[in-house]
Amino acid sequence: MRRSLVIGNWKMNGSLDSTSEILRAIETTIDDKITCDIGVCVPFVYITAAQEITKPTVITIGAQTVSEYQPGAYTGEVSAHMLEDVGCSWVLIGHSERRTLFNEANAQLVKKVLAAQMTGVTPVYCVGETQEEYKSGATFDVIKDQVEALLNNSAVDLTQLVLAYEPVWAIGTGLTASPEEAQKVHAFIRALVSERDINAANMLRILYGGSVKPDNALSLFGQKDIDGGLIGGASLDAKAFVSICQKA
Ligand code: 13P
Repeated sequence: MRRSLVIGNWKMNGSLDSTSEILRAIETTIDDKITCDIGVCVPFVYITAAQEITKPTVITIGAQTVSEYQPGAYTGEVSAHMLEDVGCSWVLIGHSERRTLFNEANAQLVKKVLAAQMTGVTPVYCVGETQEEYKSGATFDVIKDQVEALLNNSAVDLTQLVLAYEPVWAIGTGLTASPEEAQKVHAFIRALVSERDINAANMLRILYGGSVKPDNALSLFGQKDIDGGLIGGASLDAKAFVSICQKA
């Protein structure tokens, strides 16, 4: 069925030295008990170094955002072709920090997904409600809006896609959705996708993110529609990250 996937999101953290230290530590801690796919999304400037270190290993590398444009006069942007060129397997799209801090909205994010899908880089499209939305009971409306933006575009390939549910109120706060609460949202997302393509929905990996740690990973990953995790803080600690991977 669906193979679990755990992706680390380093955000804007690290240095050349720490990139190599953490990745080598992950590599030496991984054992054959781990059956999930493993990705690490590092800052753009460390992708090549990360790729060099992890090439002979099972660890795959990704980026944290991408331009929606094709190569050309877009100062400061990084294209999906460039990510493919340096060996990226994944790119995060629509992380809540991109949505809130950089005003990236659904229409632009769908373009980014399409740009990634024109290459061999798999987009990891992130959705999630804010604390205010959660408290007012708007979770499912918000998720529907974010997921449907993608589903309504018939050019989006549902077989070259990963989704991630990250409640914004759980990111970096130590709060997590309970496994049951997260499962409800994951099942809801899968149901939305199955309205367009039931086979793709069954194969689609939906990751949970938001304060996933070694001690809560097992109960979250044990849920039927949770296919792994998107890990922030704990992915900067090799031991914690590998421990999370062992539970997926
Ligand atoms: P934390 O695991 O630090 O809560 O971050 C989650 C996240 O934003 C991953 O993309």
